[in-house]
Amino acid sequence: MSRKPNQRPSLMRPDVPPASLSTPVATPLMPSVVYASATPDELDLQYEGQESGYTYSREGHPNADVVAARIDRMEGASGGVVTASGMAAVSAVLMGLLAAGDHVVGGDQLYGRSLRMMGEDLPRLGIATTLADVTDAAAVEAALRPETRLVLIEVVSNPTLRVADVKGIAALCKARGILLAVDNTFTTPGLIQPLRLGADIVIHSITKLLAGHSDVMAGYVCAADPAVNVRLRTFVVTTGMTPSPFDCWLAERGMLSFELRLDRAQRTAAQLAGHLSRHRGVAEVLYPGLESHPQAARAADLLGGQGGNMVSFVIPGGRTAANALARGAEGIAFAPTLGDVGTTLSHPASSSHRALTAERREALGMPEGFFRVSVGLEDADALCAVFDAALAEVDA
Ligand code: PLP
Repeated sequence: MSRKPNQRPSLMRPDVPPASLSTPVATPLMPSVVYASATPDELDLQYEGQESGYTYSREGHPNADVVAARIDRMEGASGGVVTASGMAAVSAVLMGLLAAGDHVVGGDQLYGRSLRMMGEDLPRLGIATTLADVTDAAAVEAALRPETRLVLIEVVSNPTLRVADVKGIAALCKARGILLAVDNTFTTPGLIQPLRLGADIVIHSITKLLAGHSDVMAGYVCAADPAVNVRLRTFVVTTGMTPSPFDCWLAERGMLSFELRLDRAQRTAAQLAGHLSRHRGVAEVLYPGLESHPQAARAADLLGGQGGNMVSFVIPGGRTAANALARGAEGIAFAPTLGDVGTTLSHPASSSHRALTAERREALGMPEGFFRVSVGLEDADALCAVFDAALAEVDA
């Protein structure tokens, strides 16, 4: 590495990396918390924006910027901020942009922790919230109030895989000057780029498909308006939501293969969805790429004919049948996560949605026999065979 003027040896650290005319192929990991400058004048140049440079890693560091730039490119965005988790990104939007007296509308099937923030944390701070069915723009419109500042939706809901009316909601938010924030974790920029469809803010849990290996937590948020991005970045830095360089390094490494993984996983998911929908032991299959999906036409329009890597299905028979299926799915991790290289199976009634009553879960379309599969990179035929065997266990 070539030595820059401010990489000078110190009394404590006399050794600096040897000079090299060539450069590393992999992104170097830069864990330094602080950055030394040569003079106060140089610091002035940085703080006044005349020169770029880092000062203190909570304020920003090279590994975070590399990750942000990569997602910016995928989302058609610029100036995105990387956070320590997906929930940090959601929190930055809801707490960094809203104030007491504001009102926010959220999808009624948002990720569980986002729902909790809508139901508990925001009201405690004097921010009123309403949940609405985001598959229906008219339902969202009916929930709006004069003081509504923001609408938060996910494109495909977890775990029932309903598809939001993104275009309709974007149009009504635009007409009223309300910010539309889209959590694109499930769908990823490989399926949809919300800012291009009129959303104002895009959010990611990088932890899931983007990083893809279940070894790093991180999030991302970016607004179309640079002034909103400054507010988001300031909130992230002030509240200490900045991720560590190592986590960013891992996230970038995972993201290098994102497109390939997504392509493979969603082709397998389409095959599994078709396979399960023909299985007599399965009562219902939900997959945005299936013609039987309740919003099949909208899914085809929004997701460019892609269905994603998530498949949900329902088996009859209550908890006993659910236990038999989970036990029978050999080689599939029974774990409430998604987007890993390995297929995972989750059961909302005993994990993400356990706080709801059985009646409420039924009403939301997820009875006891409801399972969600995050399809990974296994061979598609082998994966279908595992589910056949698991369903045979249920029968037995
Ligand atoms: N948004 C969605 C749609 C999610 O599924 C999740 C986590 O599962 C999150 C946000 C939160 O992300 P993290 O776990 O990285 O905080």
